[in-house]
Amino acid sequence: MALQIVVVDYARCELHVFQYAELSLLTSHDGSMLRRPNFNFSDRSVLMQVNTKTRLKRSIINALHLANIPAILPKRLTGMGVILLLHRVRPDPGHDFAVHRSLEITPEFLNRLLERLRALNMDIIDLDEVAHRLETGKSGRRFACITLDDGYRDNYDYAKPIFERHRVPYSIYLTTGLPDHHAIFWWLLLEHVIRGRDQVSVWIDGERQCHRTDTLESKYRTYAYLHSKFRRLTAAACRQASERLCEDAGIDIPSFCAEEGMNWDMIREIAGSDFGRIEAHTTEHVAVSRQTPDEMIEDIERGLDRTFAETGVKPRHFAYPFGDRSAAGPRDFAILASLPILTATRTVEDVLHARHADHLHALPRIEVNGHYQSDAFLDIVLRGLAPLLKRTS
Ligand SMILES: [Zn+2]
Repeated sequence: MALQIVVVDYARCELHVFQYAELSLLTSHDGSMLRRPNFNFSDRSVLMQVNTKTRLKRSIINALHLANIPAILPKRLTGMGVILLLHRVRPDPGHDFAVHRSLEITPEFLNRLLERLRALNMDIIDLDEVAHRLETGKSGRRFACITLDDGYRDNYDYAKPIFERHRVPYSIYLTTGLPDHHAIFWWLLLEHVIRGRDQVSVWIDGERQCHRTDTLESKYRTYAYLHSKFRRLTAAACRQASERLCEDAGIDIPSFCAEEGMNWDMIREIAGSDFGRIEAHTTEHVAVSRQTPDEMIEDIERGLDRTFAETGVKPRHFAYPFGDRSAAGPRDFAILASLPILTATRTVEDVLHARHADHLHALPRIEVNGHYQSDAFLDIVLRGLAPLLKRTS
């Protein structure tokens, strides 16, 4: 792994990452002699050396925290508030091969997150109130809005009691095909099958492929390859590929998905509680950019109707499955704006500014990343520094 140099430029509130070889002169910790062709750092810069991506980010997070940078950031950077993106909340199962580690935090860390929000004097609000504050331009205390994607069972088992104890609102973007058992947690199935086997066979595009998965490295490599393949399949093709994968591996899909996802009893209980909201995340969990407008609208409306039929409440907010730039674009934002949906969120990271009032159907969120469960990370996320940090990846 090539040695990397991180420069934190305090004066400009900027981070820069370079390969060692890019720098022509490297002297002391204050960075004053650091030079790169066509680039000068201010005299309030420090540099650090790191050699892996995760360590790189951890080092940056700790440096910013120790330097108390989050507390002195100007408001133009920290914005009005943040919508936080979570997925799973459960005790660490301690697997070596844990490809979704970034998507899960422990119950203790969720508790710490909520304590930290209070300590920072931030309002914890729901999505209706986010829309209201953006539309009215109402400023005041910074806010956080907590969202969880997909509908994992641990949201009910572990997260719900913590939110209720703290008496704060939270929204679960539910893919209704999961409790209905026609959509599949295929990303969890893939991980599960690869973790337990030295070789996996899959059928993709009518072809059988065999992959060796006998080392940790080959497991990660195979997962990355198959995830990109599965993500591009239609809902029907994805279901078929998952069924064949599980046939070969001897896994019963309905019982696997029932263990991982909430059932409608749990969902109704959350929807009927004082603090939980059930919002929309399609029926099939397919990237909307891969659907025709008619398919997309039908998929979304079916999900809205299913949630209404089960809970008596029609969702008013939506999250794009996968949510990155390739998963949803301007065409999709316009379609969402034409539906009875007040806001739609992505996984593109940014804090919320007044200008987002004109983009209620393409709102950014900030991921609470399970790789960085520390107070220093919370400071970065909650005080609005995460987008700056993102520039290092
Ligand atoms: Zn999702």
